[in-house]
Amino acid sequence: MTRSGKEYIEGLRDGRRVFIDGEFVSDVANHPAFNGAVASIARVYDLANDPDNAAAMTFPSPVTGAPVNLSYLIPRDEDDLRRRRIALRRTAETTLGLMGRGPEHVAGFLAGWAGRADVFGAGGQRFADNVTRFYEFARDNDLYCSYAIVPPQIDRSKPAHQQEDPHLYAGVTQEREDGIVVSGAQMLGTGAAISDYLILSCIVPLQPGDEDQAISVAVPIGAEGLKIYSRRGYAEAAPSVFDYPLATRFDETDALIVFDDVFVPWERVFVFRDRQLTSDQWNRTPAHMLGNNQAQIRFSVKLDLLAGLAMRVARMNGSDKFPPVRATLGELAAHASMVTGLVYAQEQNCEIDEFGVAWPGRAECFATMTLQSEFYPKLLHLVRDLCGGGVIQLPSSAADFANPEARADFERYVRSPGYPSTERVRLLKLVWDLVGSEFASRHQQYEMFYAGAPFLVRSRMSQVYDFDRADTLVEQALAGYELA
Ligand SMILES: Cc1cc2nc3c(=O)[nH]c(=O)nc-3n(C[C@H](O)[C@H](O)[C@H](O)COP(=O)(O)OP(=O)(O)OC[C@H]3O[C@@H](n4cnc5c(N)ncnc54)[C@H](O)[C@@H]3O)c2cc1C
Repeated sequence: MTRSGKEYIEGLRDGRRVFIDGEFVSDVANHPAFNGAVASIARVYDLANDPDNAAAMTFPSPVTGAPVNLSYLIPRDEDDLRRRRIALRRTAETTLGLMGRGPEHVAGFLAGWAGRADVFGAGGQRFADNVTRFYEFARDNDLYCSYAIVPPQIDRSKPAHQQEDPHLYAGVTQEREDGIVVSGAQMLGTGAAISDYLILSCIVPLQPGDEDQAISVAVPIGAEGLKIYSRRGYAEAAPSVFDYPLATRFDETDALIVFDDVFVPWERVFVFRDRQLTSDQWNRTPAHMLGNNQAQIRFSVKLDLLAGLAMRVARMNGSDKFPPVRATLGELAAHASMVTGLVYAQEQNCEIDEFGVAWPGRAECFATMTLQSEFYPKLLHLVRDLCGGGVIQLPSSAADFANPEARADFERYVRSPGYPSTERVRLLKLVWDLVGSEFASRHQQYEMFYAGAPFLVRSRMSQVYDFDRADTLVEQALAGYELA
C-alpha cells in the first residue's frame, strides 16, 4: 500500500526547525499556520491509499512489487502520460488545484531524472546511481519532496561568486570523505515546512566561478542545520474556515531555506560542482517537462473552479442571462478549456527519447507557462467584475451571525433567491478567498512566477517552438509572386 495520511503526519515529527512569528516550531502538524495544509496533504495520501483507487492511482514498484503512487511513474508512451494525467487530476481535485507543490509535483521531477539517470553519469557513474536510488527510495516510501532551486533575491546583477559573500547563495563549503557540507540560502521552498525531503539545486544559469552552487542534493527536512523561514501564515490569521475556506485549508506556505553547515552524505548528491550538469538535469532529462505537466494539470482544475464559481455567483445574482455576463463567463470558460486542451496536446505530441522515456510535448507545455502568467490576473479581474460589491458587502466574520439583531438584518438584506443569508455569505467568502484575499494574491504571484520569471519562460518558448515548420509557410507565401 502507499502511505496513509496518518503515516505522513507521523513522519513530520522529525525535529525540523520551522521559523514563524518569531519562534521555531517543530510540530507543524499541530501549529495553526500549517495544520490545515497538513490535513489537506494527508487527504491526498489517503486518496491513493484507498484500495478502491489503487488501479487508477498506483502502479507496482519494479523493485518491491508493492503499489506505489502513479505520480512517480516514468512514462514510456502516450498512454502512460494519460494514466498519469487522470491520477494527477484526481489528486489536484482533492485540493481544488490550490496546492501547487504537493507531493506529486517534485515526484515528476524525480521520475524525469531517474528516467534519464545516464545524464547524471556524465559527472561519474556514482551520481547516476545516486539519482536512481533516491528516486526508488522516494517512490517506494511515498515521500513528499519539496524543492528550492532559485537563489535568494539579493543582487541579481552579479553571479553567485561575486555577491558580497560568495556563500550567500546555497552551495558547497566543504568536501569530506563521507559527503559535503552546504551553507547559504535558497528561495522559495513552497511546502518545504510540511514535506519530508528538500531538493536543493539551481535552475538559473550559473557563471564560471559559481561551481560551489552547481550542485543537486536531497536533504531530509529534519537535517541538522536546515532552517525554514516561513512567510506569514494565512491560515492562522483567519478567524474561521467559514470566513477563509481556502486559506485555512490549502495554504501550503512558502519559505526561505537556510543551510547552516548542513551535512549531505555522498549518496544524496546527484550533481557536484558541475555547471553543465546542473543545467542538463533540467534540459536533457524530462524532469522539467514532467513537473510542469503536473503543474498544468493542477492549474486546469483551478481554472474549472474559477469558472464554476463565476457561474454560481452570476446565477445567484440573477445576472447569468445578461449578454455581457454570458460573454465574461464565456471568456473564463475559454481559458479553462484551452489549458485542458493543451494538457491533452502534451500527451498527444509527446516525444519518446532514445531511452524510451516519454517527454510531454514541449511547445504545448511552454505555451501554457508563457500565457498563464499573463491571463491568470485577467481571469481574477473578470470574476471580480462579475461579483461587484457583493464580495465586500459581507459580515465581518462568522461571529456576526451569533448576534441576533445583526443576524436578522443579514437574513433580510444579504440574501438572494434560493440563497438564504448564510449560503450567500458562504459562497461569496469562498470567491473572495480565491480572487481577493491575501491567499488569493499570493496565488496570483504563484501563477506568475512558479515556472520562472515570465520573460525567461517566454524566451524558452521561442526555443521550443518549431519555427522551421512556420518558416516553410512563409516560404510558401512568398513563393507565388515577385516584384515583376
Ligand atoms: C509564490 C511563489 C512560490 C514559489 N515556490 C518556489 C518553490 O517551491 N521552489 C523554488 O525553487 N522556487 C519557487 N519560487 C521561486 C520562483 O522560482 C522564482 O520566483 C522565479 O524563478 C523568478 O525568480 P525571482 O523571483 O528571483 O525573480 P527575478 O529573477 O529577480 O525577476 C523578477 C523580475 O525582475 C525583472 N528581471 C530580472 N532579471 C531580468 C533580466 N535579466 N532581464 C530583464 N528583466 C529582468 C523581470 O521583470 C522579472 O520578472 C516561488 C515563487 C513564488 C512567487
